[in-house]
This record gives sequence, C-alpha cells and structure tokens, in this order.
Amino acid sequence: MPRIKAVLMDLDGTLFLGESTIPGAPESVRRIRELGLSIAFLTNNSFYSRRMILDKLVEAGIEARPEEIVNSGLAASEYLKEHRGVCRVFPVGDVGLVEEIVLGGHTLVARGDEADAVVAGGTRDISYWRLVEGHRAIMNGALFIATNKDHVYMTERGPMPGAGALVSFLETSTRRRAILVGKPERYIADLALKKLSLRPEEVVVVGDNEEVDMALAEAIGSKGILVLTGISKNPSSKKWLVAKTPAEVPEKLSLLL
Ligand SMILES: [Mg+2]
Repeated sequence: MPRIKAVLMDLDGTLFLGESTIPGAPESVRRIRELGLSIAFLTNNSFYSRRMILDKLVEAGIEARPEEIVNSGLAASEYLKEHRGVCRVFPVGDVGLVEEIVLGGHTLVARGDEADAVVAGGTRDISYWRLVEGHRAIMNGALFIATNKDHVYMTERGPMPGAGALVSFLETSTRRRAILVGKPERYIADLALKKLSLRPEEVVVVGDNEEVDMALAEAIGSKGILVLTGISKNPSSKKWLVAKTPAEVPEKLSLLL
C-alpha cells in the first residue's frame, strides 16, 4: 500500500464556521504537520482569494504558506487559461473570486456581451442585474464555469445558501449546465496534487461534506475522513473514517499511516 504523504484539508465546516475558528483546529493542523504530512488547504469557497484565506488562517493561529492554498477561484482561473487561454471574464461572484481571475491574467468585463466566459461563484452581494448580464453572456456563447455547486455554506449561524443556488439560477434561465471546477470534480484536486507532486493514493481528503469532500475522495481514489462539525452530521457510508471534531483528525490519520 502506498504511504500517505499529505492531507487535502477542507476549510468551511472543518476548520472554520463562518468567521469563527472551530475549537481544536489550529492544534489539529500542527499535529498533522508533526506526523510528517504535507497539507494542501483545498476549499470550494470562492468568497476569498488565496491571499485572504492565508490571512484568515494566520489570524486563527493556523500555520500556513501561500503555496499550500488551493481555492475554487484559482481552479476557475487555471481552467480558463488551460482551455481557452487568457479570457475576457464576466464574474458573478465575490471580491476574492475577482482577485483570482485578475491574478490569472484574465480581463474583467462589465457587460455580458463582451465576455468569453462567465465565472459564477458564491457571493454575499449580488444584484438581479448582474445575473441578467451573466445570463446574456452565456446565451451569447460565453463559457459557463461554476467554482462550486455546494447547496449550502456552513457558518456560525447555520447553513446559508451556497454557490450552487446561484449557479442554479443561471442554469435554469439559460438551460445550460455550468462546468464545475471545484470539489467533487477532480480538477481542483489535480491542481493540489500537482503542487504536492503526489498521486491520489498518497493523500487523504478531510472535510465536512459527504457530497463534496467524500465524493471527491471517492472520485480520485483517495481515503477520506469526514469531520462532523459542518454539514454532514450522520455519515451514510462506512467507506470513510469519521472524526467528531478537527481535533480528532490527527489520530484518525495515524490509523492510515
Ligand atoms: Mg466544508
């Protein structure tokens, strides 16, 4: 059996609930490193850019380096570059997503009919008119990318509508299916694996959502650890290990080493 060398660590519902740090999360990450494992912070959250996520981790007392962060905004930006080159992008998302698109060398456009691609992600600030322009762009033939299709996003106030709800709006109006680059699709995981120079059998996917994180583990052929502090409270399968809190993750990991 190949040795486990790294963890693909989810953030929302696993280390954070909204802006709060889940108790035990910083110690958990420290102990994972002490086990000799590398970490990629692999998140579908597109509110934040990698820079913003790094700030949030450091502020929470979680040791992290910029190159360890792989978010769905980066995945969208890289997917576009790989498949279409540098694009004129109409974003339907938050500031962090916009930052990743610009960092990828793409240009932002303010009108749907000028766009080569629409990138839809989670946002806490959306107007009907932005959705109208996104709709127009897609109907005009723009590539339609979704950072993620999570139905909810877990916060300290409970679940809130996720990016999937917003993507559905555009999928319904245009009758087109968005190309998903976030978990459980393997594109985002392949970015992390490439950075780590590892194969799927050498990593463990850790996350709070069976339909997203554990489905990814299954899709790429990795082991999974489901953490119960977020979305999934009752595991439906015995295929993955279960940790009640992030604090339990290192001991579950040591069973796999
Ligand atoms: Mg999560």
